[in-house]
Amino acid sequence: MLTCSAVSTRLVRLFVDLCAPPLCPLCRAALAHGQAELCSDCQADLPQSPERRCHGCGGANAGHLALCPECLRVGARPWDFAVSAFPFHGLVRDAIHCYKYRRRTSLAPFFARCMAEAWTAYAENRRIDAITPVPLHWFRTWQRGYNQAAILSRLIAKQLQVNCITPLRRIRYTRQQARMDLTQRRKNVHGAFAVANRKAVVNQRLLLVDDVFTTGATLAAATAVLLDAGAASVSVLTIARD
Ligand SMILES: [Zn+2]
Ligand SMILES: [Zn+2]
Repeated sequence: MLTCSAVSTRLVRLFVDLCAPPLCPLCRAALAHGQAELCSDCQADLPQSPERRCHGCGGANAGHLALCPECLRVGARPWDFAVSAFPFHGLVRDAIHCYKYRRRTSLAPFFARCMAEAWTAYAENRRIDAITPVPLHWFRTWQRGYNQAAILSRLIAKQLQVNCITPLRRIRYTRQQARMDLTQRRKNVHGAFAVANRKAVVNQRLLLVDDVFTTGATLAAATAVLLDAGAASVSVLTIARD
């Protein structure tokens, strides 16, 4: 039986829905009452990674080994395991662009939910103690107004019921890496990170969160300083694998 307060909560929610119907987070079309989180068009267009994925980057893996050809070529990744929620193209690519560069932070709950679900589905029951975002340099945070990875980390931590910690600092301003190859990216992020709070890291199994996995150079530099500061292990979770 519904209590008075449950009835009034439902009435308030109904009223709010009537005034401002929920929107599809990807295309912002109004969702019909009771419709799923995405509109049917976006649901149909959402790119999906295949079931078989690479343990090194979280991307598709057509081969028989645990690692995809690119990860085998790059050599040992410093993290234990990587999971990515989507391939980086189509609707997901556009949405990430809006999320990072056009202040569409309303996309964060959708991305975070998909990332938490992908981690649960593909990480083979790996245990983690805390989630931590790849930090931005303070100047870039100021320019952008937010750190997209930090917002995701807080939401994912809630879903996976672990702590969200921020022990990493970006101590050097680095250039945008979009047009760089792996060697240039490695050089660009060398010495870019430091651990500000070693106590928070020691013996912790950490899940490092970022938006897009491209070459893995940024994630590798951040992972290296976390392991150096005493983390028991680092795994990686991104929205998409490029
Ligand atoms: Zn939509
Ligand atoms: Zn791979």
